[in-house]
Amino acid sequence: MQVSEIFSSIQGEGQYVGYRQIFLRLAGCNLSCDYCDEQSEGRMMSGAEVLAQINALSTHYHHSLSITGGEPLLQVNELLTLVPELSLPIYLETNATLPAHLREIMDKIDIFSLDYKSGYEAEFQACLELVRDQDTQVKFILMQNQPLTVIKQAAETVRLVNKDIPFIIQPVTPYRTVKHMPNTDEILAAYTVVKNKLNDVRVIPQTHKMMHIK
Ligand code: SF4
Repeated sequence: MQVSEIFSSIQGEGQYVGYRQIFLRLAGCNLSCDYCDEQSEGRMMSGAEVLAQINALSTHYHHSLSITGGEPLLQVNELLTLVPELSLPIYLETNATLPAHLREIMDKIDIFSLDYKSGYEAEFQACLELVRDQDTQVKFILMQNQPLTVIKQAAETVRLVNKDIPFIIQPVTPYRTVKHMPNTDEILAAYTVVKNKLNDVRVIPQTHKMMHIK
Protein backbone atom coordinates (compact mmCIF):
# COMPACT_ATOMS: atom_id res chain seq x y z
CA MET A 1 0.00 0.00 0.00
CA GLN A 2 1.06 3.59 -0.60
CA VAL A 3 1.96 5.00 2.83
CA SER A 4 2.97 8.54 3.84
CA GLU A 5 3.87 7.77 7.45
CA ILE A 6 3.14 5.66 10.49
CA PHE A 7 3.58 7.30 13.88
CA SER A 8 2.29 7.64 17.42
CA SER A 9 0.83 10.98 18.50
CA ILE A 10 -2.17 12.76 19.98
CA GLN A 11 -5.43 13.12 18.07
CA GLY A 12 -5.74 16.85 17.45
CA GLU A 13 -9.17 17.08 15.81
CA GLY A 14 -12.79 16.31 16.45
CA GLN A 15 -14.54 14.69 19.38
CA TYR A 16 -11.67 12.31 20.17
CA VAL A 17 -9.23 15.20 20.56
CA GLY A 18 -6.57 14.48 23.16
CA TYR A 19 -6.46 10.69 22.86
CA ARG A 20 -3.19 9.03 21.98
CA GLN A 21 -3.42 7.12 18.72
CA ILE A 22 -1.25 5.32 16.23
CA PHE A 23 -1.65 7.06 12.89
CA LEU A 24 -1.50 5.21 9.59
CA ARG A 25 -1.41 7.99 7.04
CA LEU A 26 -2.01 6.75 3.52
CA ALA A 27 -0.88 8.68 0.46
CA GLY A 28 -3.06 9.90 -2.40
CA CYS A 29 -6.38 11.65 -2.60
CA ASN A 30 -9.16 12.09 -5.14
CA LEU A 31 -9.63 15.75 -4.11
CA SER A 32 -7.38 18.80 -3.97
CA CYS A 33 -8.41 21.11 -1.14
CA ASP A 34 -6.70 24.52 -0.87
CA TYR A 35 -5.84 24.00 2.81
CA CYS A 36 -4.54 20.44 2.41
CA ASP A 37 -1.34 19.79 4.36
CA GLU A 38 -0.96 16.21 3.20
CA GLN A 39 0.32 15.96 -0.35
CA SER A 40 3.03 13.38 0.12
CA GLU A 41 3.41 10.74 -2.60
CA GLY A 42 4.36 8.26 0.10
CA ARG A 43 6.15 5.01 -0.50
CA MET A 44 5.00 1.52 -1.31
CA MET A 45 4.96 -0.81 1.70
CA SER A 46 3.73 -4.36 1.99
CA GLY A 47 0.98 -5.19 4.46
CA ALA A 48 3.54 -7.09 6.53
CA GLU A 49 5.80 -4.02 6.73
CA VAL A 50 2.90 -1.82 7.79
CA LEU A 51 1.85 -4.32 10.42
CA ALA A 52 5.39 -4.60 11.77
CA GLN A 53 5.68 -0.82 12.16
CA ILE A 54 2.33 -0.60 13.90
CA ASN A 55 3.23 -3.45 16.24
CA ALA A 56 6.54 -1.75 17.10
CA LEU A 57 4.58 1.33 18.25
CA SER A 58 2.07 -0.73 20.21
CA THR A 59 4.31 -1.08 23.26
CA HIS A 60 2.69 2.14 24.59
CA TYR A 61 -0.98 2.69 25.40
CA HIS A 62 -3.07 3.90 22.47
CA HIS A 63 -6.79 4.61 22.44
CA SER A 64 -7.18 3.52 18.82
CA LEU A 65 -5.53 3.41 15.42
CA SER A 66 -6.37 6.28 13.10
CA ILE A 67 -6.40 5.47 9.40
CA THR A 68 -6.10 8.80 7.67
CA GLY A 69 -4.67 10.35 4.53
CA GLY A 70 -4.93 11.47 1.85
CA GLU A 71 -8.10 9.51 1.27
CA PRO A 72 -7.70 6.05 2.82
CA LEU A 73 -10.68 4.53 1.03
CA LEU A 74 -8.81 4.78 -2.27
CA GLN A 75 -6.84 1.80 -0.90
CA VAL A 76 -9.83 -0.11 0.41
CA ASN A 77 -8.65 -3.47 -0.96
CA GLU A 78 -5.36 -3.24 0.93
CA LEU A 79 -7.20 -2.10 4.07
CA LEU A 80 -9.59 -5.04 3.86
CA THR A 81 -6.57 -7.31 4.21
CA LEU A 82 -4.73 -5.26 6.84
CA VAL A 83 -7.47 -4.20 9.26
CA PRO A 84 -8.42 -7.69 10.50
CA GLU A 85 -4.78 -8.11 11.62
CA LEU A 86 -4.93 -5.03 13.87
CA SER A 87 -5.86 -5.30 17.53
CA LEU A 88 -6.68 -1.64 18.36
CA PRO A 89 -10.10 -0.09 17.67
CA ILE A 90 -10.03 1.46 14.19
CA TYR A 91 -10.80 5.14 13.61
CA LEU A 92 -11.32 6.03 9.94
CA GLU A 93 -10.97 9.55 8.58
CA THR A 94 -12.53 9.97 5.16
CA ASN A 95 -13.54 12.79 2.87
CA ALA A 96 -16.89 10.98 2.44
CA THR A 97 -16.84 10.96 -1.35
CA LEU A 98 -16.51 7.19 -1.87
CA PRO A 99 -19.61 5.52 -0.39
CA ALA A 100 -19.16 2.25 -2.32
CA HIS A 101 -15.73 1.79 -0.76
CA LEU A 102 -17.01 2.76 2.67
CA ARG A 103 -19.71 0.11 2.39
CA GLU A 104 -17.04 -2.52 1.67
CA ILE A 105 -15.09 -1.87 4.87
CA MET A 106 -17.50 -0.32 7.36
CA ASP A 107 -18.04 -3.58 9.28
CA LYS A 108 -14.35 -3.52 10.25
CA ILE A 109 -14.31 0.08 11.49
CA ASP A 110 -15.18 1.24 15.03
CA ILE A 111 -15.19 5.06 14.72
CA PHE A 112 -16.03 7.11 11.63
CA SER A 113 -14.99 10.70 10.97
CA LEU A 114 -16.58 12.10 7.81
CA ASP A 115 -15.53 15.39 6.30
CA TYR A 116 -18.07 17.41 4.35
CA LYS A 117 -16.77 18.53 0.96
CA SER A 118 -18.87 21.03 -0.94
CA GLY A 119 -19.88 19.66 -4.34
CA TYR A 120 -20.10 16.07 -3.07
CA GLU A 121 -23.41 16.30 -1.21
CA ALA A 122 -24.87 13.09 -2.68
CA GLU A 123 -21.77 11.07 -1.83
CA PHE A 124 -21.61 12.61 1.65
CA GLN A 125 -25.24 11.76 2.33
CA ALA A 126 -24.75 8.20 1.05
CA CYS A 127 -21.74 7.73 3.34
CA LEU A 128 -23.59 9.21 6.30
CA GLU A 129 -26.59 6.96 5.79
CA LEU A 130 -24.29 3.92 5.91
CA VAL A 131 -22.85 4.87 9.32
CA ARG A 132 -25.71 6.92 10.77
CA ASP A 133 -26.10 4.62 13.80
CA GLN A 134 -22.39 4.05 14.41
CA ASP A 135 -19.83 6.06 16.40
CA THR A 136 -19.75 8.78 13.75
CA GLN A 137 -18.85 12.46 13.63
CA VAL A 138 -18.96 15.00 10.83
CA LYS A 139 -16.21 17.58 10.42
CA PHE A 140 -16.75 20.80 8.52
CA ILE A 141 -13.73 22.99 7.73
CA LEU A 142 -14.86 26.59 8.14
CA MET A 143 -13.10 29.10 5.88
CA GLN A 144 -12.86 32.86 6.11
CA ASN A 145 -15.53 34.63 4.02
CA GLN A 146 -17.31 31.37 3.34
CA PRO A 147 -21.00 31.89 2.53
CA LEU A 148 -23.21 30.55 5.33
CA THR A 149 -25.22 28.68 2.71
CA VAL A 150 -22.40 26.12 2.48
CA ILE A 151 -22.46 25.09 6.14
CA LYS A 152 -26.25 25.35 6.14
CA GLN A 153 -26.38 22.81 3.32
CA ALA A 154 -24.03 20.49 5.23
CA ALA A 155 -26.11 20.72 8.39
CA GLU A 156 -29.33 20.17 6.46
CA THR A 157 -27.91 16.98 4.93
CA VAL A 158 -26.90 15.69 8.37
CA ARG A 159 -30.33 16.60 9.74
CA LEU A 160 -32.01 14.52 7.04
CA VAL A 161 -29.96 11.48 8.10
CA ASN A 162 -29.68 11.80 11.91
CA LYS A 163 -29.78 15.09 13.82
CA ASP A 164 -27.89 13.55 16.77
CA ILE A 165 -24.64 12.95 14.84
CA PRO A 166 -21.96 15.24 16.34
CA PHE A 167 -21.12 18.08 13.96
CA ILE A 168 -17.66 19.55 14.47
CA ILE A 169 -16.94 22.99 13.04
CA GLN A 170 -13.19 23.16 12.50
CA PRO A 171 -11.93 26.69 11.76
CA VAL A 172 -9.37 26.30 9.00
CA THR A 173 -5.69 26.42 9.95
CA PRO A 174 -3.93 28.86 7.60
CA TYR A 175 -1.69 26.96 5.20
CA ARG A 176 -0.37 27.56 1.67
CA THR A 177 -2.89 29.77 -0.14
CA VAL A 178 -5.16 30.00 2.91
CA LYS A 179 -3.89 32.98 4.90
CA HIS A 180 -6.54 33.59 7.57
CA MET A 181 -8.86 31.79 9.95
CA PRO A 182 -12.51 32.81 10.10
CA ASN A 183 -13.13 35.50 12.73
CA THR A 184 -15.25 35.25 15.88
CA ASP A 185 -18.40 36.56 14.21
CA GLU A 186 -18.06 34.06 11.37
CA ILE A 187 -17.52 31.16 13.78
CA LEU A 188 -20.48 32.12 15.95
CA ALA A 189 -22.73 32.67 12.93
CA ALA A 190 -21.79 29.24 11.60
CA TYR A 191 -22.46 27.68 15.00
CA THR A 192 -25.92 29.27 15.16
CA VAL A 193 -26.85 28.08 11.68
CA VAL A 194 -25.87 24.49 12.48
CA LYS A 195 -27.35 24.45 15.99
CA ASN A 196 -30.71 25.45 14.52
CA LYS A 197 -30.71 22.10 12.70
CA LEU A 198 -28.66 19.66 14.81
CA ASN A 199 -28.42 18.65 18.44
CA ASP A 200 -24.65 18.24 18.99
CA VAL A 201 -22.51 21.06 17.56
CA ARG A 202 -18.98 21.92 18.66
CA VAL A 203 -16.16 24.19 17.48
CA ILE A 204 -12.76 22.48 17.70
CA PRO A 205 -9.65 23.78 15.88
CA GLN A 206 -6.66 21.63 14.94
CA THR A 207 -5.05 21.40 18.37
CA HIS A 208 -2.03 19.36 17.25
CA LYS A 209 -0.96 22.36 15.14
CA MET A 210 -1.02 24.53 18.30
CA MET A 211 1.19 22.02 20.07
CA HIS A 212 3.50 21.74 17.05
CA ILE A 213 3.16 17.99 16.98
CA LYS A 214 2.23 15.76 14.07
S1 SF4 B 1 -9.78 15.55 1.10
FE1 SF4 B 1 -8.30 15.74 2.78
S2 SF4 B 1 -6.44 14.73 2.02
FE2 SF4 B 1 -7.76 15.11 0.25
S3 SF4 B 1 -7.04 17.06 -0.58
FE3 SF4 B 1 -8.75 17.51 0.83
S4 SF4 B 1 -7.76 17.93 2.82
FE4 SF4 B 1 -6.24 16.89 1.50
